[in-house]
Amino acid sequence: MTPRTRPDLASIPAYVPGRTFPGAVKLASNETTSGPLPSVREAILESALDVNRYPDNGAVELIATLSERLQVPAENIAVGCGSVSLCQELVQITCEPGDEVIFPWRSFEAYPVVVAVAAATAVPVANTPEHGHDLKAMLAAITDRTRLIFVCNPNNPTGSLIGRTELEEFLDAVPADVVVALDEAYFEYVRPTSNVDVADGLELAKNRDNVVVLRTFSKAYGLAGLRVGYAVAAPELTTALSKVHTPFSVNTIAQKAAVASLAAADELLARTESVVAERHRVRDALLEAGYDVPGSGANFLWLPLGDRSAPFAEAAAEAGVILRNFTGDGTRVTIGDPHENDRFLAFATGPGRALAGIA
Ligand SMILES: *Cc1c(COP(=O)(O)O)cnc(C)c1O
Repeated sequence: MTPRTRPDLASIPAYVPGRTFPGAVKLASNETTSGPLPSVREAILESALDVNRYPDNGAVELIATLSERLQVPAENIAVGCGSVSLCQELVQITCEPGDEVIFPWRSFEAYPVVVAVAAATAVPVANTPEHGHDLKAMLAAITDRTRLIFVCNPNNPTGSLIGRTELEEFLDAVPADVVVALDEAYFEYVRPTSNVDVADGLELAKNRDNVVVLRTFSKAYGLAGLRVGYAVAAPELTTALSKVHTPFSVNTIAQKAAVASLAAADELLARTESVVAERHRVRDALLEAGYDVPGSGANFLWLPLGDRSAPFAEAAAEAGVILRNFTGDGTRVTIGDPHENDRFLAFATGPGRALAGIA
């Protein structure tokens, strides 16, 4: 007899790891290219000697360090095994089966999954033709059953940015009992532009008890492999998060590495400057070659190639550059080191052009 599992899980796609080739350049996962700084490596090696002990489930040192750096009380901070698990916990603390979660689409692939796992109802709202959140349509999608709204700023995978004024207006229009998660996984890569003022979720959340800011050590802080992220929210919400938290899921090494990374924040964040410079260089080269490339506030660019996305990404992989394909929709290109980006550009401005349908 087949073991019985929930029939509704059939609607959740199984994880398919990206294909890779020896010697290929990986521009598929929005990671940083540099390994840990010496001080962070030392913290990792030292804490590895303590793994016979359980981690600190309250992450006291990490939360105190974050509290100091962010100037937010410790009771307003929760940590998670990557911010993706905080996304999951947010659905768990807000939704009973059938309750609704609004999120932009296309956006972070984890949103529909964590909603489905909780047996909540996904309410995806299509992005605007410019590939940004359609905040008006998201507001219009709110019903009595809405419990949670994800806002991804900058949006993964389209890179779109919501400015401060626009975001404040949106937050003011959301009923105060509906939780809004501001997912700022790429916050450190945002720079002001001529038409967008930077929205800092921490400021916007200060006087709004229904707003949760999600940040992570996986992207600009370079700790994707260790799995640690954090939420900043009103104590009622951080307390609720602690109730559904998988005990000890933020491990000792991750906690120590995150603390050491915060001590080296200036040096780590300085690295984002070269990523931002490369983001501009790669985008300009693609525009020059005839691509449609929306502006990006993150460490990746979005190529809205529609049905041409899969063959484009496939050919890029064969040329030694692994991209992230979203079939039928587009291809996401992580900004890597200059030589990696050059390899991508050699493909994109060469054989890739015909596959992208550029005449
Ligand atoms: C990468 C990413 C995260 C966080 O990832 P973790 O590694 O789980 O911290 C969260 N949201 C978005 C939109 C992301 O792209």
